[in-house]
Amino acid sequence: MTYVIQGESGDWEMVVGLEVHAQVISRAKLFSGAATDFGGEPNSQVSLVDAGMPGMLPVINDACVEQAVRTGLGLKAKINLRSVFERKNYFYADLPQGYQISQYQHPIVGEGTVVLDLADGSTREVGIERLHLEQDAGKSLHDQDPKRTFIDLNRSGVALMEIVSAPDIRSPEEAGAYLRKLRSILRYLGTCDGNMEQGSLRCDANVSVRKVGETELRTRTEVKNVNSVRFVMQAVEHEAERQVDVYESGGQVVQETRLYDADKGETRPMRAKEFAHDYRYFPDPDLLPLELDEAYVERVRAGLPELPDAKKSRFMADYGLSAADAGQLVAERETAEYFERVARGRDPKQAANWVLSTLFGALNRLGRTVTDSPVSAEALGALIDLVGDGTISGRIAKEVFDDMVKTGRDPAAIVADKGLEQVSDGDAIGAEVDKIIAANPAQAEQFRGGNEKVLGWFVGQIMKATRGKANPQMVNQLLREKLKG
Ligand code: MN
Repeated sequence: MTYVIQGESGDWEMVVGLEVHAQVISRAKLFSGAATDFGGEPNSQVSLVDAGMPGMLPVINDACVEQAVRTGLGLKAKINLRSVFERKNYFYADLPQGYQISQYQHPIVGEGTVVLDLADGSTREVGIERLHLEQDAGKSLHDQDPKRTFIDLNRSGVALMEIVSAPDIRSPEEAGAYLRKLRSILRYLGTCDGNMEQGSLRCDANVSVRKVGETELRTRTEVKNVNSVRFVMQAVEHEAERQVDVYESGGQVVQETRLYDADKGETRPMRAKEFAHDYRYFPDPDLLPLELDEAYVERVRAGLPELPDAKKSRFMADYGLSAADAGQLVAERETAEYFERVARGRDPKQAANWVLSTLFGALNRLGRTVTDSPVSAEALGALIDLVGDGTISGRIAKEVFDDMVKTGRDPAAIVADKGLEQVSDGDAIGAEVDKIIAANPAQAEQFRGGNEKVLGWFVGQIMKATRGKANPQMVNQLLREKLKG
């Protein structure tokens, strides 16, 4: 499925790379001991280092380094045993030091890979160019006073991982799939909570276009402010179409930073693009190069959990699930764990069906996730067992499930209270079958004349008469016997 933008002069493709800033899960900041909790009183989590006071020296936080290495390993990337912190100099009110401590020429993590799971079940690899550690800036508050801007430094100094993809993304769908997959990996690793609304995952898109078949890259723009998966997909689409229009009308795309306006569905210029030399990078004289050894990296590697790709392969091999089903189940670690608890000792495909269609349907309606699901994995498993041992029919099971969602009650208790047990008593069903056949001689005649479809109609009548409780196999069997007479 290739995505092309049609122009007057031929077909164009988009060339997109995403830069993600992921806030590191760590109790303390990258170079100070101040807390990182979200939503604190403004300026309540600020050390003298974070406020840029003269003479204060940064001290690297080991926990943040380990999180970066962990993330690098999760992205199947090269860990650089020697990396260097540099000062990225610019002036802004929310940057009290006058520079951001970042990594430039020697990042802690080099090339890696993210595997995209696309909607049709296929996969595609997107390269990771680098991951580096850097500190966040403070926040300007423009809405507190009509004339003044206030500064909150709680975020100043919080550790970020800047994760830069290769320009391998070719469609809005791939852009969305990349961001979802990256977020999933970070959450599995426990290195970033991936919460885009709270800003712990922020995304900028580098977008250019070229004629299908061209191999050189053309001028790119950087689109800022795309902070949801949906917005990223929309922003790259709008920006690529805009660039095609520029070229098709004889113009040139200029390198610049643009802002995505989700309400208007367009990007607009924000500022001329800075070049790296504008920032006067130089190694931070207050910090030594960061040196790691192989043994340290191997220790971190040994502590990695099973990641989504490996889990997906295992679900396909061990449970016989399709790539699409397995991909959906492993997207969140909690969902995968929930599914495995349901599948244990049961038919895995049946378990997957219940989780993916019935449970997910209910959770979507409620705006909940498996973590706060009203139906526990154990309760859902018990419900599946009631179908398996013939206590209730599959149809009744759906009714019991709806009750479980509403009341959180145990399925066996619901079945007992409502008298929903399946009727598997041959005499009782046989009596019902006799009644229905006697009442509908014309249809019975049609069946005897070779019209098989009438059987389904008879089954429906019996199920209605028994309020769905008759054992369907027995109904079928008895109907055939008795209709043949
Ligand atoms: Mn950055």
